[in-house]
Amino acid sequence: MDQLICPNCKSKMDKIKHPDITIDQCSNCGGTFLEKGELNSLATGMAGDIEFCSVDQEFHTDKHPYRSCPNPSCTGKTMRKINLLTCADTVFDYCDRCEGFFLDKGEIQQMNIELEQLTKGESAEEFREYIDGHLVRSDRIADVRTVRSGLYGQTSATPVDNLRISVYFKNSLNLGLRIYSEKWTYKFVKLIGLFQKQDIQVGNEKLDSLFIIQGSNEDEIKSLLSKYEIQNQLIEFKEKNFKIYNKRGTLEITDKRIIYTEGPYTGNVKYDVKENRIGVVTKMLNIANAFESNRVVVT
Ligand SMILES: [Zn+2]
Ligand SMILES: [Zn+2]
Repeated sequence: MDQLICPNCKSKMDKIKHPDITIDQCSNCGGTFLEKGELNSLATGMAGDIEFCSVDQEFHTDKHPYRSCPNPSCTGKTMRKINLLTCADTVFDYCDRCEGFFLDKGEIQQMNIELEQLTKGESAEEFREYIDGHLVRSDRIADVRTVRSGLYGQTSATPVDNLRISVYFKNSLNLGLRIYSEKWTYKFVKLIGLFQKQDIQVGNEKLDSLFIIQGSNEDEIKSLLSKYEIQNQLIEFKEKNFKIYNKRGTLEITDKRIIYTEGPYTGNVKYDVKENRIGVVTKMLNIANAFESNRVVVT
């Protein structure tokens, strides 16, 4: 997408790229446009779909005028006002057509303050920072409704949490890649020949039995995964049983990131990436480095 025009002051907005999102920001007035999904991405510590829970049909106002959506495919559609999580004091501009959000200067900070209050005592687990040049995120996957009900002083049901750690590659691997742990169910399905998707065999018996490997560029994937260092890292992760708590999680690798999911847990799970670098996160960073040092990506 080309540079967007700020719906507030009509200046050209800058693209600010992160491995997980690209946001459009106005250096003149400090406004930010977020495409669908990006608000959820920004609010790392919040579980659930904040965007979905914020868009209601009620009428809201704020001190700003109505804006036109800066998304070129919306050709100036008027945005309406919505209320963050429908119960907070923060009002954003929202486009019904592209489902994007416009936030005025300061509203991101305000949002973070409100989200922090909503997740009081639970914010230590959230994390989004660069470590050795890799974006590392920690997300708690649960239901946002359990958080919202606390606002009205109601006792919320015990949420079921999954812990998800993501280590992003510096650049997309551009292989259409998906590698994931082989579960017995997949093994069974594969055995009886029901497996729909292409399953790439690398030729390392152990690796092939531990992971399902799929992707659009089979030759390049095979050549990349033939590297001893990568095979070693992946097998070690499975065999040494790297985990955060007492459950073995799943490892998944896509073009963009390495994802480790552990759980579900009943109750609150906390994991401080900063305090506990030695375990899973360090291992994931090693895997990322092994992939990157063996894959030359033209950007
Ligand atoms: Zn502006
Ligand atoms: Zn729009």
